[in-house]
Amino acid sequence: MLLAHHERCFSPGCRETYFSAARKFSFCGGCARVPFCSKECLARAWNHPEIPHKSICKKLNLIGTTTKIPSRPEPQDRSKFQDRLHKAGIVDSVLADVVSHLDKLVKETSTAFGRFDGIFSNIY
Ligand SMILES: [Zn+2]
Ligand SMILES: [Zn+2]
Repeated sequence: MLLAHHERCFSPGCRETYFSAARKFSFCGGCARVPFCSKECLARAWNHPEIPHKSICKKLNLIGTTTKIPSRPEPQDRSKFQDRLHKAGIVDSVLADVVSHLDKLVKETSTAFGRFDGIFSNIY
C-alpha cells in the first residue's frame, strides 16, 4: 500500500527495488508517498495512458498528510488511519479513486507491495 512502507519503484512495468538497485529511491515531490527509481520512471508513471500517477498524486498527498500515517505502520495504525480519514471528511469518491488506481497498479505490476496492500480496500 502506498501509504505504508515500500521499497520498490512504482512506475508501471519497472521491477527495480531498493535491493536490486542497492540504493533507496527518491519519492514523488507531489505526494511524497511514492518512490521512483529514476526521473524517467517518474515521467513514465506520471503520464501513463491507463494509470497516470498525476491522477492520484494530489489525492494521495491529501490522504497522507491528513492521516499522518507513518511510513512503517503497525497493524493498530489501521483504526487511527480510518478515524482520521473520517474526521477529516475525506469524501468517499477521493478514496475510491485512489483505491481503484492502486488496484490497477498492483494488477499491472502483479507484485506484492508489502504488508499493507489492502489498507484502503479493507476500510469499506
Ligand atoms: Zn523504475
Ligand atoms: Zn505523487
